[in-house]
Amino acid sequence: MSQYDYDLFVIGGGSGGVRSGRIAATLGKKVGIAEEFRYGGTCVIRGCVPKKLLVYASHFSSDFEAAKGFGWDVGDSSFDWKTLIGSKDQEIDRLEGLYEKGLNNAGAEIFRTRAVLEGPHEVRLVNEDRVVSAEKIIIAVGGTPNRMKQMSGWEHCITSDEVFDLEQFPKNIVIQGGGYIAVEFACILAGLGAKTTLVYRGEEILRGFDWDIRTLLHEEMVRRGITVICGRTLESVEKIADSTLNVNLSDGTQIQADQVLQATGRLPVTEGLGLEKAGVEVASNYSIKVDDYSKTNVDSIWALGDVTNRVALTPVAIHEAMCFIDTEYRGIRTKPDHALIATAVFTQPEIGTIGLSEEEAGEQYPKLDIYRAHFRPMKNTLSGSSEKMLMKLIVDSETGIIVGLHIMGEAAGEMAQTLAIAIKMGATKDDFDRTMAVHPTAAEELVTMYQASYHVIDGKRTD
Ligand code: NDP
Repeated sequence: MSQYDYDLFVIGGGSGGVRSGRIAATLGKKVGIAEEFRYGGTCVIRGCVPKKLLVYASHFSSDFEAAKGFGWDVGDSSFDWKTLIGSKDQEIDRLEGLYEKGLNNAGAEIFRTRAVLEGPHEVRLVNEDRVVSAEKIIIAVGGTPNRMKQMSGWEHCITSDEVFDLEQFPKNIVIQGGGYIAVEFACILAGLGAKTTLVYRGEEILRGFDWDIRTLLHEEMVRRGITVICGRTLESVEKIADSTLNVNLSDGTQIQADQVLQATGRLPVTEGLGLEKAGVEVASNYSIKVDDYSKTNVDSIWALGDVTNRVALTPVAIHEAMCFIDTEYRGIRTKPDHALIATAVFTQPEIGTIGLSEEEAGEQYPKLDIYRAHFRPMKNTLSGSSEKMLMKLIVDSETGIIVGLHIMGEAAGEMAQTLAIAIKMGATKDDFDRTMAVHPTAAEELVTMYQASYHVIDGKRTD
């Protein structure tokens, strides 16, 4: 009999934690799992899933507009935030139930409590005030929004944790940040009818993405009525009435709003987790340091997902969990593979991207061929919308391998998922050329761009 209460104890019931706990239990391991908030974690409860539901809701305003060109008279329309949030809550409750059911069916023991480390094999279940032991421990506690507490008036602001549950729909909102959450929520809230201002400290939104995508999204957001202010930050926020905030920007200008959303990144939630008691090392940003197999410096403790500050995306946490299972319980040593991760940004228009931006590729390859199509998709010939679609392939001239693929427009996320398989397999431009087009689709542009639009030699564009 084992000297420990559990073979595996998982702290954190989000994507990585639930996957590792559930599969380990399915494999016959004695598993305990603790979650202090709700099973499903950020992705399911207050992240990707409710966000996508809100994205669907926000599309209707432009769909109603587009309908006219196709002969539809939609009549008067109105939007009710409470109905949307109520429906969203029902769906999230259902998914949370499924997460728990999956763990239960697999035979894992579920705890609803904060859990902290007491040692290399010991976990304190705070609500039950008792310590359990485990042969292996996984820390998968995720991250929390950066609340910008250094800013005067931070307490009047909300983050992505609160935005899903606001009592009142914000009529006039200021969003700080230029990353995923900032641009997605700017498009969601503007689509639902809010006067929206996005304030970003850098030169252009979506740092790290291809410059074409960054500038074209900026233009499209402005076209949709969003005010985008770059090169500035929020200096302070003052509450002047119950639902009125004065937002002071770094250049001295002032904006009034009824809500301010800070979308300025997420921080690992390692504080008070007992890491020092167990001897687990953290990096300077308090994320947990791990090796190539997600193991910490302590032989019995692993960490997965956002708390490790590798790539903060749900599928990545799930992949890291599966690699842990393979390595520790299936006898197949497997390192998580963080190369060529496809990602989507659910803005309007949507973005799908795989691999390197033109700028990154220019630093890594001496010569690139760039294939670029910026066109009005067929739907917009009747809808009346001037929104264009972008398809861009970045090809290493020497090998013909596609090292970057960027799409902006309807269903870009769906396309990125399917194309990611080909790109991950090392697809070349020739492979794309040999592929028959599916007609009429927007995606056929990807296999019909016969001539390079321009080249990039030693990082410089040549036309
Ligand atoms: P991001 O890291 O994407 O963006 C943070 C933004 O805040 C950046 O624009 C950053 O600027 C800015 N910022 C950071 N610190 C400050 C500061 N002190 N003052 C002013 N601005 C600041 O984080 P998000 O919060 O948007 O999202 C968190 C993570 O969640 C993402 O990185 C992503 O991994 C994940 N996510 C994924 C989604 C998807 O897959 N569709 C959707 C939502 C979230 P700068 O660029 O200059 O550093």
